[in-house]
Amino acid sequence: MQEPSNQNLTAERPTFVSHLECSMTGERYEADEVHGLSRAGRPLLVRYDLDAARKELSREAIAARPADMWRLREILPVREARNIVSLGEAATPIVPLTRTAARYGASGLLVKDEGRLPTGSFKARGIAMAVSMAKAFGIGKIAMPTNGNAGAALAAYASRVGIETVVFCPDDTPEINVREIALQGARVYRVNGLIDDCGKIVGDGAAAGAWFDMSTLKEPYRIEGKKTMGLELAEQLGWDVPDVIFYPTGGGTGLIGMWKAFGELQKLGLIGSKRPRMIAVQAEGCAPMVKAFQEGEEHAPRWEGAHTIAAGIRVPRAVGDFLILRAVRESGGVAMAVSDDDLMDCVEEAAREDGFLLCPEGGATMAAWRKALDAGLVGKDERVVLFNCATGLKYPLPDHSETLDRHAVPDFATL
Ligand SMILES: *Cc1c(COP(=O)(O)O)cnc(C)c1O
Repeated sequence: MQEPSNQNLTAERPTFVSHLECSMTGERYEADEVHGLSRAGRPLLVRYDLDAARKELSREAIAARPADMWRLREILPVREARNIVSLGEAATPIVPLTRTAARYGASGLLVKDEGRLPTGSFKARGIAMAVSMAKAFGIGKIAMPTNGNAGAALAAYASRVGIETVVFCPDDTPEINVREIALQGARVYRVNGLIDDCGKIVGDGAAAGAWFDMSTLKEPYRIEGKKTMGLELAEQLGWDVPDVIFYPTGGGTGLIGMWKAFGELQKLGLIGSKRPRMIAVQAEGCAPMVKAFQEGEEHAPRWEGAHTIAAGIRVPRAVGDFLILRAVRESGGVAMAVSDDDLMDCVEEAAREDGFLLCPEGGATMAAWRKALDAGLVGKDERVVLFNCATGLKYPLPDHSETLDRHAVPDFATL
């Protein structure tokens, strides 16, 4: 039987990658070599010859391609089509929350639903890219710290191409995540600590030569995968950007990646100079970026005693802290914290009013929107995009059901 062909995955298209660059010092690194952090201990960013790429990337040429995260291969790092590892990363829809918005006298509230991606979260974007590059480099074993979704994506994509994986997660990681990681072929360890404690184990193992460290922003390619959220969003809005983006911020890879995407799209002539205000949303129980933002700092020290129900944003310390804070400030945005009660209230409200089941982190973005609306930080008619980063079905849900005795005569009017 012939496999259905997707030309984004099969066509040999040039990548215009030129080199890598330290995000702190600008020091240049060669492409096509295995890299972790820069010599300064900071994330490396992939750079492209955008003048050359521009000739291939007219709006018409792009529109004729399949709608998935591999659509703009010219500004993605994978050179050869045969190295692409894919589980079908279709473009995710933008869904309006019309009834919810109306309750606040607002319109234009949109959700980018990343829960539709393989493994049920947007971690698939970053990991698909990073595992494709690992395959190209012939890497045989990868380790990663995770709060759940990244580990699940790593297990799935790496197993698909026979790469061995070892995953470390805090011992209170959502149970479904721990189980899907193991089921998809990884060895998974529950660790009595937080994600940065897990990260230390991974880093020590990498230093001892045991495996490759795929922690977020500690290798250069996950961010290139997450960048596709920005590319996709701009195209879906008719090559425009929204007024405001609310992003649930853990390591911040998606926020930094989208900011990079908008810069590249402008240089490609595909969008103008307008930028969305980037709102970094955190939980009150773990808000290192919010604290650093308010104090005018460029870096964020470790947040002690981190706790929140929104596991994906329980990240006490981020190696890309200065990149998150720069993007937020340059965009005219803010960093905001919300309470667990508020974010769960939003999960319930969006589900009840609009039939949209947000994950807790998605609920946090809606809670921040409500707060920002109240404080006059966003207008009622502004075009706002919330990021729902995982399917709400991955998380424990509140129980609002009732029981019924089948032997009793029901009073149908009250059912
Ligand atoms: C990982 C994750 C986040 C945080 O994303 P970053 O880009 O790492 O900041 C938010 N929500 C969910 C559901 C996640 O899995």
